[in-house]
Amino acid sequence: MIIAPKIKGFLCTTAHPGGCAADVNAQIKQVERGGAIANVPQRVLVIGASGGYGLATRIASAFGGKAETIGLFFERPAQKGRTASPGWYKSAAFTEAAHARGLYAKNFNGDAFSQSMKDAVIDCIEKDWGQVDLVVYSLAAPGRTLPSGETVRSTLKPIGEPFSGATIDFNSRELRSIALEPASDDEIAATVKVMGGEDWEDWMQQLLNRGCLAEGALTTNYTYLGSEVTWPIYYHGTIGRAKEDLDRAAAALATILSPVNGRADVVVMKGLLTQAASAIPGMSVYLSLLFKAMKAAGTHEGCLEQVERLFRSQLFSENQRRDDAGRIRMDDWELAPEIQAMVKANWGKVSQENLDSLTDFEGYRAAFLNLHGFDIPGVDYELEQDPEVEMSLEPI
Ligand code: NAD
Repeated sequence: MIIAPKIKGFLCTTAHPGGCAADVNAQIKQVERGGAIANVPQRVLVIGASGGYGLATRIASAFGGKAETIGLFFERPAQKGRTASPGWYKSAAFTEAAHARGLYAKNFNGDAFSQSMKDAVIDCIEKDWGQVDLVVYSLAAPGRTLPSGETVRSTLKPIGEPFSGATIDFNSRELRSIALEPASDDEIAATVKVMGGEDWEDWMQQLLNRGCLAEGALTTNYTYLGSEVTWPIYYHGTIGRAKEDLDRAAAALATILSPVNGRADVVVMKGLLTQAASAIPGMSVYLSLLFKAMKAAGTHEGCLEQVERLFRSQLFSENQRRDDAGRIRMDDWELAPEIQAMVKANWGKVSQENLDSLTDFEGYRAAFLNLHGFDIPGVDYELEQDPEVEMSLEPI
């Protein structure tokens, strides 16, 4: 079939297998062009490995560091004429490329919060590796089913005060006002349950209990702080509360990991358009302004460039650049005073008429299409595609 983008709101309901594979292969080439990355731990588990920062981490580990990787994700295969989710196609392409280079790569598809998934992944680590050296927790999930069977959902809402802002419709390019009421206490607590640090701690504790953490094991969790203009909806909102909980979890993990002299890091990454970020109200205006400013300054990075810089200059070095809370900062270029000055100067001025001159909405829109395998250079979108792409998955 010929596959074209079908966009509804902030969702694209189709994905292009050839485009997703081309995107992954381009990222692999880019890492390889940069040369070997030193000191990459050799047995790496990525939880949330099929998109955005997690996929970039898996690519940098395997193709920059020659590491063996286990990737865990929650993706949908093609069904009844419907394409698979982009993360399915991207993980299949990653696995094919890793195996072609003789690199160990195993995949688990399902719910990372569930005990059955933890058991299956840890069994695999025990059997294949004995121990794991690096665990990257890069999950962005809309909900979590608790051991009791109850499912809690995360919300993207302000806390304390209503939020009003604007969003841009991908299809019509229309700028629309949005207004959100503050979250209830239950909504805040549920968001912390889903996106906070509890499940990260649980994974690490279970790996330790099973004797599966190597001496000096590292673990990371990605967070976002962002610009003051987005604080009302992000940092001071429900998701920010969950991200605050990561700092608590990292401190708790320092104690949990002490028997193996392990280290837990919260790493602050820059704002980028990923599947998860596309759902955040009002982020489209901020990211369109940010892309414009950073591209003009020559400092724009995608997920892969961020992770490469983290790997090459921070995570495996003797000393890291940390803030007062002990977090490693990779958002330094996003928060550079001259970049933020440009964003802030234009923040209140964006209108339908000046969208293309004041912002990089075109770049933002292209990034959204790229996420789903569309608009990738060198891909012929007139060619027939088979939406059913096989991927080797481990039993759960
Ligand atoms: P993403 O949507 O691209 O990837 C999310 C991953 O989580 C995918 O692999 C998906 O399959 C997996 N996943 C979701 N629910 C799951 C479940 N129940 N079980 C197993 N896997 C599941 O998201 P992203 O933007 O790369 O986010 C990853 C992390 O990076 C998040 O913690 C996010 O807050 C953080 N971060 C993102 C940005 C940004 O701008 N995108 C900036 C800084 C930090």
